[in-house]
Amino acid sequence: MSLLMHGPQQRAWVEINRDAITHNTSCIKASLAEHCELMAVVKADGYGHGAVTVAEAAIKGGASSFGVATLAEAIELRQAGIKQPVLVLGNLQAPEEFRCCLHWQLMPTISSLRQAQLANQEAANAGQPLAVQLKLDTGMARLGAPWEEGPQLLAAINAMADLQLHGLYSHLADADQLASSHTRLQQQRFEEVMQHLTGINQRPGFCHLANSAATLGNRELHYNLVRVGLAIYGHAPAAHLSQKIALKPAMTVRARVTLLREVPAGVGVSYGHRFVTQRPSRLAVLGIGYADGVARLLSGRMEVM
Ligand SMILES: *Cc1c(COP(=O)(O)O)cnc(C)c1O
Repeated sequence: MSLLMHGPQQRAWVEINRDAITHNTSCIKASLAEHCELMAVVKADGYGHGAVTVAEAAIKGGASSFGVATLAEAIELRQAGIKQPVLVLGNLQAPEEFRCCLHWQLMPTISSLRQAQLANQEAANAGQPLAVQLKLDTGMARLGAPWEEGPQLLAAINAMADLQLHGLYSHLADADQLASSHTRLQQQRFEEVMQHLTGINQRPGFCHLANSAATLGNRELHYNLVRVGLAIYGHAPAAHLSQKIALKPAMTVRARVTLLREVPAGVGVSYGHRFVTQRPSRLAVLGIGYADGVARLLSGRMEVM
């Protein structure tokens, strides 16, 4: 391989600071109630940081389980030797997907009776119990069973011999808004189903509702598990949440200066001449562009160091 293919010779690259992920995770963990656990969300290749790298750094910081979107992402963690519980947040439908969960010890999300039956059937066929979590739609209108059906579904799952209910969860549509009335409504609906559980003595291991915004913003939404993505990577989900914990961004995008040029005042620079020099200026051309993810939408809105 040519020397030019290696590290610092590249024109553009990202650097991931593992210690920042460990720091962020442990600061967030320290802010939770004692009995509350932290699930690190490492979907989409750990938000582009590298799922396995992030998972290992998050374990050091106190994460006790992982959330991913797809089965392939979950299997990647298992193949890397990660033993913690992994919840597949995305929707699984096919029998072979539940077989895969059994094989790799992954927890699928159940959003309907049909899925629960299918999962139970596959677990029975394998002669092996399957841990699952039930997701309710409390006002996001994406994944999850309608919250009104929560009590019936819990009873149905409880009656299935080969499923073990490890959790009940929902997802917030408006968590990054300050004092959102919709978040309050989702909380009320979620707790209504939870209360029902206590009544019929079927409380699953984990009840969880909070993403990063709700984790940083409102302790009432923590219950006994929070699902944290953005914040472990070092980003506050909204400006009003940025003071809560001193988060450290874990990713740095770097590019080489490939050309320096001196130009006079009044020169329009690059497409659309969106920038015009006000004085004689030195331009630095960086070896990074659309193909690397620097969208043209960022013209005039981006700063580099
Ligand atoms: C992505 C995701 C999260 C994490 O959200 P952040 O805002 O990045 O913290 C939590 N829960 C579910 C269901 C998700 O899909």
